[in-house]
Amino acid sequence: MADRDGVIWYDGKMVNWRDATTHVLTHTLHYGMGVFEGVRAYKTDKGTAIFRLKEHTDRLFRSAHILGMKMPFDKQAISEAQRAAVRENNLESGYLRPMAFYGAEAMGISAKTLSTHVIVAAWSWGAYMGEEAITKGIRVKTSSFSRHHVNITMCKAKANGNYMNSILAHQEAAQDGYQEALLLDVDGFVAEGSGENVFIIRNGKLYTPDLTSALEGITRDTIIHLAKVELGLEVIEKRITRDEVYSADEAFFTGTAAEVTPIRELDNRAIGEGTRGPITEKLQSLYFDVVKGKNPKYAHWLTLV
Ligand code: PMP
Repeated sequence: MADRDGVIWYDGKMVNWRDATTHVLTHTLHYGMGVFEGVRAYKTDKGTAIFRLKEHTDRLFRSAHILGMKMPFDKQAISEAQRAAVRENNLESGYLRPMAFYGAEAMGISAKTLSTHVIVAAWSWGAYMGEEAITKGIRVKTSSFSRHHVNITMCKAKANGNYMNSILAHQEAAQDGYQEALLLDVDGFVAEGSGENVFIIRNGKLYTPDLTSALEGITRDTIIHLAKVELGLEVIEKRITRDEVYSADEAFFTGTAAEVTPIRELDNRAIGEGTRGPITEKLQSLYFDVVKGKNPKYAHWLTLV
């Protein structure tokens, strides 16, 4: 990832990709106190557009606020940085990674004297789990790792350190031959994937876990909106058990990277027909039309770069 052409927005300037480095004593590298976003830009008929830029930028600043991190730039500057990162890397579509992290002024737990730095990188990135995952669905395993407890870390912050939990869960699932992990909360209820929110469908109704320990996903919000408004589906946010997932007619993950990825199996039990379900397919198709600018009703969710 590091040795390539292109530019990265770094503290207000575009720098060459290879020169976007930081010191080994960078505080965030040691302790994980930082915040980031995952954003996508899509090719539309009017040009390349970032999907829900405002919501992603708002969440980045909310994450920083939760951690008590002072942001050295305002939302306007970080929004412009994201547009510039896509534009100046000549991307037709791609993934964006804004991140705020502490500098290398001091070691130790106190972050009081540290500066905050911000980067925005952008690169080309296709389907997160491969094209086949989108059409056929994936095999998922319930993780032996629990999702964070809400008073151990801040689950509503998209914080760097939170992802050690995600990586442990994903690594375990992948080593056992599954494509993704499903994490339960500390009480044993379904929380989310390592980098996705989760939905199930039963008797034509859509269910998703309430947000207690899951990230407030922007794709989750988009899908809830499309399900209600475009398909007239009832959407219920509630505690969900793993056997409710086993018994669902359909299930899928949502995330900026994962988009809408059907789940065809959980813990070696087929979900529904064991393939992408019809409502999942409709929601996927609605989602892709919206992000690619093919549905003018949702043009306000797209920001041209
Ligand atoms: N949960 C976790 C833990 C995530 O990392 C992500 C990806 N940001 C999501 C859910 C989905 O969020 P979004 O739809 O905003 O990408």
